[in-house]
Amino acid sequence: MEEQNKEQNEKTCALITGGSRGIGRAVAVALAKAGHPVMINYSGNINAAEEAAMLCATADMDLPVFIEQADVSDEESAAKLIKTAEEKLGHLDILVNNAGITRDGLILNMKTEDLDEVMNLNLKGTFYCCREAAKLMMRRRFGRIINMASIVGIRGNAGQTNYSASKAAVIGLTKSLAKELASRKITVNAIAPGYIDTDMTKSMSDKAIDATIKSIPLKRAGKPEEVGALAAFLASDEAAYITGQVIGVDGGMGA
Ligand code: NAP
Repeated sequence: MEEQNKEQNEKTCALITGGSRGIGRAVAVALAKAGHPVMINYSGNINAAEEAAMLCATADMDLPVFIEQADVSDEESAAKLIKTAEEKLGHLDILVNNAGITRDGLILNMKTEDLDEVMNLNLKGTFYCCREAAKLMMRRRFGRIINMASIVGIRGNAGQTNYSASKAAVIGLTKSLAKELASRKITVNAIAPGYIDTDMTKSMSDKAIDATIKSIPLKRAGKPEEVGALAAFLASDEAAYITGQVIGVDGGMGA
């Protein structure tokens, strides 16, 4: 146990919000494979979170892996999650703000609640977690913050005014925070996935999927693991000089 605690102390530890399914799960597994103890946050689906934890543990049987329920759109819950991550992991060095939702529709039909729900999680949840984690990382003078944006936060998309506004805001937050935290050796970057095959995109109609695939230069959907690989790189020592960037994983859509 003492040995394990010592090892945990020496490794950089990661929290992934919405790490139970889709892209977040792939990020958690990639970070575990890279040797980082991880905490997987989820909101309601404990089975998916346990499955994700099993996959991380398979990557390295000796690695500490935790799951933690929290709705990060709630300010208090988000702050509590960051505190719990620090306590259970020993220290929080890598924060991946991945939890996100869509509430699509044309603006004429869109309810204000659809805007609020999306903003509360995608933007405010990211903001709350960044703020609380930054306090801890600044003390340690080290940190990696990775925010999950989207190509539609850069290019826009009909039917996603609320979602694209939330992701554009995440990009602004990322660039500003990178400037605030650089002097403490904390990097802050955003990943902008294109069309990735997850539960989030499964609800699209076949017609919409066909049209989307046709618009992608590489002519296929991305895999969550292809986003996970970039997150693991951004968390690594090799990425120490990369900050304030928005990096696409989109098969050429954003080119
Ligand atoms: P997903 O398959 O729907 O998974 C969403 C994850 O977020 C789940 O782990 C879910 O946990 C968690 N979550 C939902 N609400 C939460 C809350 N209030 N608090 C904490 N966790 C919450 O989504 P995804 O496709 O992997 O997307 C992940 C991120 O990538 C999102 O930010 C999304 O906007 C972004 N993105 C996705 C795509 C794409 O094509 N898929 C493209 C661009 C950007 P439970 O299972 O417990 O509900």
